[in-house]
Amino acid sequence: MLENVNVVLVCTSHPGNIGAVARAMKTMGLSRLTLVSPSDYPSDVAETRASGATDVLADAKVVGTLAEALADCSVVIGASARSRHIPWPLMNPRQAGEKVQEAIAAGNRVALVFGRERTGLTNEELAQCHVHVNIPANPDYASLNLAAAVQVIAYEVRMSHLAAADKLQHAGDGQWGVSWDHPLATQLELNGFFQHLEETLVEIDFLDPNNPKQLMPRLRRLFQRAAPDKIEVNILRGILTMVRANRRKE
Ligand code: SAH
Repeated sequence: MLENVNVVLVCTSHPGNIGAVARAMKTMGLSRLTLVSPSDYPSDVAETRASGATDVLADAKVVGTLAEALADCSVVIGASARSRHIPWPLMNPRQAGEKVQEAIAAGNRVALVFGRERTGLTNEELAQCHVHVNIPANPDYASLNLAAAVQVIAYEVRMSHLAAADKLQHAGDGQWGVSWDHPLATQLELNGFFQHLEETLVEIDFLDPNNPKQLMPRLRRLFQRAAPDKIEVNILRGILTMVRANRRKE
């Protein structure tokens, strides 16, 4: 699904940054890179900085204009260090990550657009984005290196993606979010256990029936928090049966 996320770099001047972006992308599971009129590219410097992510570089598309890069994308998010545009829908990276996940889950292609090292994205380019994303950095020094900015946003995309996959995996689980190999004990079975436990605790003089305090509610709370399954309740009852049997033998 992450193959529907396209990272678009506009007019990058240092090929080393392109390599570093490829690396940042690959660590987060992104593979689609589009370069709009890059300078000095292809380049050995880019290859070196990509480290093990040269496959991302090899597959990168080079195009002449931003419009070309965005042609097959239906959601466009532009990363901008500062706002110099008329007010526009603005998100932080976490919100943008969620937006990306929502969009790709519905089968859309998303573009994440990043600007030039020195001057960022122009107003015209920013206007081609549905939303802008700003990394809330130090206001006195808010401009991240291009590859660092890609890393932060790609990380948030990945986190949202993993969270969604996790939710899906547990969608059919019981109320406690875990499904073991046996079904949870029913309330009837739990009540049988609590009854058994109470009788045993009285028998071993741990519980004074004339002064029970909050012992049983506390134990109930403890066991209910653990949400035992049928087998676990059987094991607990087996232990209680043995405690009582052995006590009678004494
Ligand atoms: N001096 C430029 C910054 C360019 S940094 C400017 O002020 O716009 C290169 C690119 O990295 C930016 O165009 C943007 O896409 C991204 N970037 C850097 N810092 C960012 C931040 N704090 N929030 C969002 N994107 C950022």
